Amino acid sequence: MTPLGLYLHVPFCASKCPYCDFYSLRGRENDWDAYTDCIIERIKSYQDLRLPADTVYFGGGTPGLLGAKRLGRMLDAVREAFALAADAEVTVETNPGVGDESLFPGLAAAGVTRLSLGLQSANADELRQLGRIHTAEQAARAVELARRAGIGNVSLDLMIATPGQTRESLLRSVRFCAEAGASHISAYLLKIEPGTVFAKRRDALSLPDEDEVCALYEAACASLESLGYAQYEISNFARPGRESRHNLKYWRCEEYLGFGPAAHSFFRGRRFYFPRDLASFLAGGAPADDGPGGDFDEFAMLALRLAEGLREDSCLARFGHPIPQAVRRRAAPLEGAGYCRVTPEGVALTRAGFLVSNAVIGSLLA
Ligand code: SF4
Repeated sequence: MTPLGLYLHVPFCASKCPYCDFYSLRGRENDWDAYTDCIIERIKSYQDLRLPADTVYFGGGTPGLLGAKRLGRMLDAVREAFALAADAEVTVETNPGVGDESLFPGLAAAGVTRLSLGLQSANADELRQLGRIHTAEQAARAVELARRAGIGNVSLDLMIATPGQTRESLLRSVRFCAEAGASHISAYLLKIEPGTVFAKRRDALSLPDEDEVCALYEAACASLESLGYAQYEISNFARPGRESRHNLKYWRCEEYLGFGPAAHSFFRGRRFYFPRDLASFLAGGAPADDGPGGDFDEFAMLALRLAEGLREDSCLARFGHPIPQAVRRRAAPLEGAGYCRVTPEGVALTRAGFLVSNAVIGSLLA
């Protein structure tokens, strides 16, 4: 079987950012040890199967808050329960300024190979508006400390279309990431999610209009490309060979297991998830079934997020048939409008298509 990806959710943060709707709780230090034990127990429940895995991703929340010792214990449990590949990609998400100078050497010693740092902006005023509690300098220092600890594969997160952001400030943030030595950059459009503080204050935020959002996204993509970061997904850019192997599993509709509240799984053709409820997870609550997964529409919807798009060869390998003619027929007018490219190899969205990906993908798969 194709090796699995393993996702370990850590739902704790030092503070709650006003735009964030990830499942994360502020503080809760008293729960960190019990939470670590609980994740380990869940991992152990797979040990009789000794399934192959080749990526591990600690996401959050802010996993770095738990420290190298707790994360290392979870990783040891993964190695005991799964046949983890010797060259596995092991990523830890964290934030600049989290932990002391022993964090990265400790993570490297535990087997972490990749960091994903939430920078969001290199501009102090934008960081303040986003409720971030770190500085850009702390991010640059974190990349340097990671490199010294032997973790040279570092991704930085940026946000596009944040309150008050200008083309110049965005491009400054992009250059900052490149100069800091990021091997990978995720550049997400800010989405105002219901229930967040930003959603309540929406009218008071000075947000760019639709045309400005498009211009900002295109400027960021062009700048990233000119700095040597190839776009491989709507929001993700990497130096050659530094694409996130774990996240590629999601977009290629491969199987993975998720542990922790809000963590989703796709395993043996079924999707299931743990509810967004720490207390229920700590009490041993079971995951909820989310039905079957991996049919053609789902596979195509995910593939079309990638720059490589929906490919004939992967469609044939997975389903034993080429891309349906109906999809190619629907793609023709969208290609004429500049939203996708159609070639004998497959169908892929253009950058203009990425900006309205939900609508374009919806039309292709209608
Ligand atoms: S640090 Fe990340 S996960 Fe935590 S509240 Fe902020 S955006 Fe959300």
